Amino acid sequence: MEQLTLGDITVDVVQKNIKNVHLSVYPPTGRVRIAAPLRMNLDTIRIYAISKLGWIKKQQVKFREQPRETPREYLNKEGHYFLGKRYLLAIIEQETPPKVKLRHSTIELYIRPETDTQKRQAILEQWYRQQLKDLLPPLIQKWEGKMGVSLNEFQVKKMKTKWGTCNRNAKRIWLNLELAKKPFHCIEYIVVHELVHLLERNHTDRFIAYMDHFLAEWKQSRNDLNKLPVSHWNWEY
Ligand SMILES: [Zn+2]
Repeated sequence: MEQLTLGDITVDVVQKNIKNVHLSVYPPTGRVRIAAPLRMNLDTIRIYAISKLGWIKKQQVKFREQPRETPREYLNKEGHYFLGKRYLLAIIEQETPPKVKLRHSTIELYIRPETDTQKRQAILEQWYRQQLKDLLPPLIQKWEGKMGVSLNEFQVKKMKTKWGTCNRNAKRIWLNLELAKKPFHCIEYIVVHELVHLLERNHTDRFIAYMDHFLAEWKQSRNDLNKLPVSHWNWEY
C-alpha cells in the first residue's frame, strides 16, 4: 500500500482494478483512504486528494469532536501508553514476521498487510508482556533483598479487576499486563504490595506499616496508578 502525505494528513492509497477513484474518511480517528484505478499514477492521485482536502478536514473534525471513549483500533497515530508515556502508533506494513520497535515518540508496529485489529492487538500485547518480563526480575530481586522474602515465580496475566495477586503458599505473584502502560514507580508499588503479602496476608495495620516502611511514597503511586487514561475496569485491589 502507498501512502501520501499532505501536510499533517496521511492518505492510504490502494490501487485496484476499479473504474473510478473513491475517497473515504473513517471514524473514529479520521483515517483517510483512497481507492484508485491501477492505471492512475500517484501524482494524479495526489492532485485529486489535494482538491478534496477541505472535505477531508471537515470529516476529520466531525469525528474528533464526537466525545466518546474509543476502543483501540491499532491504527497510525493512535495514542498508546508505555511506562506512563504516551506514544503514537506507527503502522509499518511489510511481508516479514511481525515485530514492535520503541522509538522516541512512536511505537512502531511492523505487520503484514491485511493484519486485522485483533491480531494487531495480540502483537502489541505480546510486546507489552515481554517488556514486563524483562523489567520485572531485577525489580523483584531488589525488593526480595530489601524485604528478606523470596519468591518462587511471577507471571504476567490479563486480569480484569486487579493489578496484582499473591499466592502465599506457592510464593507466586501475578501481575496485570496493563501495568506495562503505567509509570515505573507504579509498577514498583504493585510489586512491593504483592511481596508484602508474603509477610502479612491481609490489608491490616501491620500491612500498611510494612508499606510505609518499605515504600514511604506508596500512596502517591497508588493515586497515579488510577489516573488517566481511565480504564473501563473497576480496580478493587
Ligand atoms: Zn493486597
